[in-house]
Amino acid sequence: MVICGGGNGTHVLSGIVPTVDAVDEVYVLSTFADEAEKFSKAAATQNGEVHIRRCKEGPDGEDVIVKGKPTGVTNDPSIATKADVIVFAVPAFAHGGYLKAIKPYIRKRGSKAPGGRVILGAMPGESGFDMQVQHILGDEVFNSIALFALETLPWAARLTEYGKSADILGTKFDVDVAVTPRSMGPEVVKTVQKLMANQHPRLHFIPSMLVVTLMNINQVWHPTITWGQYREWDWKTPFDKPPLFYEGVDEVTGDMLSKISDEILQVKQVLESRKIDMTGLRHVKDWMVRSYGDDIGDKSSLHRMMNTNKGYLTLTHPMVETKDGKYMPNFKYRYMTEDVPMGLVVTRGIAELCGVETPHMDTVINFASRALGKSFIVDGKLEGPDVGMSRSPQAFGFHSLDELIQKLNY
Ligand code: NAD
Repeated sequence: MVICGGGNGTHVLSGIVPTVDAVDEVYVLSTFADEAEKFSKAAATQNGEVHIRRCKEGPDGEDVIVKGKPTGVTNDPSIATKADVIVFAVPAFAHGGYLKAIKPYIRKRGSKAPGGRVILGAMPGESGFDMQVQHILGDEVFNSIALFALETLPWAARLTEYGKSADILGTKFDVDVAVTPRSMGPEVVKTVQKLMANQHPRLHFIPSMLVVTLMNINQVWHPTITWGQYREWDWKTPFDKPPLFYEGVDEVTGDMLSKISDEILQVKQVLESRKIDMTGLRHVKDWMVRSYGDDIGDKSSLHRMMNTNKGYLTLTHPMVETKDGKYMPNFKYRYMTEDVPMGLVVTRGIAELCGVETPHMDTVINFASRALGKSFIVDGKLEGPDVGMSRSPQAFGFHSLDELIQKLNY
C-alpha cells in the first residue's frame, strides 16, 4: 500500500495501517518539499515507528497509543508500481500533483486487491475528485481501477512531532464511502475498513461519487460562515482578536447555510430524475444531527446548532497577526483555497449543468472570489478565467449533464 501526503491524515494512517496483519508493506509517498526526508529521518530516531495517540478511546476513557512502522518513506512516485492500494490523505489541492506523478506507475492489472484492480482513493474526496482522476489518468486507467472517496477524514487529527507522532482528537462514528465502479463497492469498503484496523468509523457504501461531491460539508460551512463574518466588513479594518467561527454564526448566516443546502437538494432532484441513486445526500441540518447528535445543545435552528455544538466550540476564524498585535482575515487558509475551488464551485458547476438557479451559492462564491482574487462566475455563468483551477465539470470540458453522466459512469 502507498499513502500519499505528509500532514495530519498521513501521519495517522502511517501509524495505524502497518498494524493491520493483512497489509504486507506500507510506503509513505510525499513529493512535497523535503517532507519525505524529514519524515524518514524523524521516524528513524524511534526505530522507524510512528506513534498515534487515540485520545480517550480506551475502554475507561483513557488514551490508547498505537505504534506502526511503515516499510519506507520516499519522494519517488515509482513506488506506486508496488501498490495494490493507494490512498491520498492530503488537502484536495494536492490531489492533482499526486495523480500526475503516479500516473505512469499505476498497474492496470494483477493487483492482489479484490477484483484484481488497483484501489485508489481519497480521505476525504472533497468535491470533483473522480472527475479530476478521470481527466488526469484517462479512460483506460480510470476504467481499470476501483476508485473510492470518503465524505470526510475519519478523524480530527493533529500531528504532534513531524515523522514521529500524531493525536487523534476524535473519531467519526459513521462515514460514507462512494466507489466507482459501483459493483466493487462492498469489497472496496471492506478493504478500506480493514486498513483502519477494523475500528471506528463504521464505513458505509453509498452508490454515487456525486454524493461525496455535493455532500462535502466543508464547501457549505467554511466559505459561507466566512461570508457571514465579513459580509459587511470594509476589507481593511483589523480586528482586536480572532472572531469565533461557529459560535459567531448569526441568524442571517444560518439562513444562508440552509438556503445553499436547499439549492443542493434541488440539484439532487434533477439527478434523481436521471436515475442516479443519490442516497446519502441530505440537508445540512440533518447532516449535523446525524454527525453530532446530543453534542448539540440547541437544535431549534441551524444557527443555534452551530452556536451550541460541543465539537465546534472555541474555534476561531483563520487570521494573520499584524505587526501591532491586531488581526486580519487569512483568506489563504484552506477554508477558502480548498473549499471554494474544490468545493462550492464544483457544486455550482453541476447545478449549472442541471439547470438549477443558485442565487445564494453565487453570493458566497462571488464574495470568496473577491477574497481569493479570482473570478469564477461571469454574467451568471461559470465562465470566469479561474474556472480552470477548480474541479468543476466545466474545468474538465463538460458542458452537458449527459456527457458527464456517461463519462464518469454515474
Ligand atoms: P494537512 O493540512 O496536514 O496537509 C498538509 C500536507 O499537505 C503537507 O504536509 C503536504 O504533504 C501537503 N501539501 C500542502 N501543500 C501542498 C502543495 N502545495 N502541494 C502538494 N502537497 C501539499 O491536511 P490534513 O489535516 O491531513 O487534512 C487532509 C484533508 O482532510 C483535507 O482535505 C482537510 O480539509 C480534511 N480534514 C482534516 C481534518 C483534520 O482534523 N486534520 C478534519 C476533517 C477534514
